[in-house]
Amino acid sequence: MSKRSSPVSPTVDFDADGIQHGFLKLPISTDESAWGAVMIPVTVINNGAGPTALLTAGNHGDEYEGITALLKLSNTLRAEDVRGRVIIVPIMNVPAATAGKRTSGLDGGNLNRSFPGDPDGGVTEQIADYFTRELVPMCDVALDLHSGGRTLDILPFAAAHRLDDYDQEAQSLGGAVAFGAPVAMMMFELDATKLYDTAVESQGKTFVTTELGGGGTTTPERMAIAERGVRNFLIHYGLIEGQLESPAGQQVYVDMPDASCYVQSEHSGLLELSFALGETVRRGDVIARIYDMTRTGSEPIVYHAQRDGVLVARRFPAQVNMGDTIAVIAEVVDSLER
Ligand SMILES: [Zn+2]
Repeated sequence: MSKRSSPVSPTVDFDADGIQHGFLKLPISTDESAWGAVMIPVTVINNGAGPTALLTAGNHGDEYEGITALLKLSNTLRAEDVRGRVIIVPIMNVPAATAGKRTSGLDGGNLNRSFPGDPDGGVTEQIADYFTRELVPMCDVALDLHSGGRTLDILPFAAAHRLDDYDQEAQSLGGAVAFGAPVAMMMFELDATKLYDTAVESQGKTFVTTELGGGGTTTPERMAIAERGVRNFLIHYGLIEGQLESPAGQQVYVDMPDASCYVQSEHSGLLELSFALGETVRRGDVIARIYDMTRTGSEPIVYHAQRDGVLVARRFPAQVNMGDTIAVIAEVVDSLER
């Protein structure tokens, strides 16, 4: 049975020339607003023939590096600088960002676990559905900016995924490298089925994702990486003119071959990590200790690294619960190509 059309209505014309700032309006009916709408900001810039780039952030509401970078870009990118079309959605999941949370303040939905979405589902599934059926089909290349949010801190990287279509994979990897973060990664997802990434890649589009820091805040260093990366992405795919800017120092390539990269906690307590982000870890090293906060005189639980690599992500809050990812160790490689 075919789905009904999306309940979202845009206030911009995606085919009109020049620059427009508007909204993707999704009807809601709540205690605060009986005939209301979720208002998702959108900027569209059209200038002549060329590819379409879809730039997104705020897929998770507490990942501020990307949100800030795209809000700034929407204020500064001029129509005359663009060849083709740039669609900017700085805050995909507005109800999550409004609540200062990863997930929606309206229906609790995790947008990046809600794809391909459903026009008859909750608010979060309706947002996902609009991207899957309306915005993604318009684009040739897509960039989705994530970071660790409040519970993770991540060494800034851009990434592609292994894909069945080797040409699509190579196109995406080219953008991930050109992004110019300190690290470029071939990323392994714990569960890819309901990701935006998968929804975009399954339509044959070139797709780059990022993780640009975390902790639920921004720093000057990470904002510089985010803003430079977005500009590099647009240059690499021919949307704007300019010279690619490289990261300071040699860019590091890392691979995540399988789930053993993820160290997940089997205990609750107080977390002490033995390594900082970017440090080299050897198999067998003590990577973390977890202390019982309810008593003195008990030895901590010790976690050892299961593989050699570099620490690319860590839990940010010091308190840890069973099942939390406490560290991610990725393998340093000479090349990410097949
Ligand atoms: Zn995210």
